[in-house]
Amino acid sequence: MFTDKRSKKVIFMAHCLLNQNSISDGTAVHPAAFKDIINLFMDNDIGIVQLPCPELCCLGLDRGNIYGADSPVTVENTRIRREMEKSETQTKLKTLVDYTMLQIDEYIKHGFEIKGIIGANRSPNCGVESTSDNDVEISGMGVFMNALHKEISDRGLNIRMTGIKGSDDIMEKFKEFL
Ligand code: SF4
Repeated sequence: MFTDKRSKKVIFMAHCLLNQNSISDGTAVHPAAFKDIINLFMDNDIGIVQLPCPELCCLGLDRGNIYGADSPVTVENTRIRREMEKSETQTKLKTLVDYTMLQIDEYIKHGFEIKGIIGANRSPNCGVESTSDNDVEISGMGVFMNALHKEISDRGLNIRMTGIKGSDDIMEKFKEFL
């Protein structure tokens, strides 16, 4: 099964790295996507799975605050974090984590190689090495990545996770993922 031309290698990537139109107001750094990251994985025959954008799906494109872009990023990120931690939002978030885990489970069941999960550092949801809280950037994971990491750990899986920021050296960051 699956002995066709596919590489059987995939990487999961934060939604906004492939679609900057989803990101919170005032924080897009590219018109459409991080093309250099996409090209890197395409050139190495690694399929890209676009994760859901938790903020778009749970809070809306404007994150429930049409003035979000007027605040410093970490201040607005902290407000977003508090919204994501509310119980009604957590219920929505759980469906996104489940949807992601379903895909991870399927790829693993059929012997595909999951190269890793790439998040967006500083994000209150998709940060991996850093996130935002108390109006500053801090070490640690965002709400979505934290919930995803817990599910992965609970299954006894070991999937590499890292996050990026626009200024990172892409090749240096991802050479271990190829
Ligand atoms: S970092 Fe995550 S929550 Fe924020 S825009 Fe990107 S995909 Fe959405």
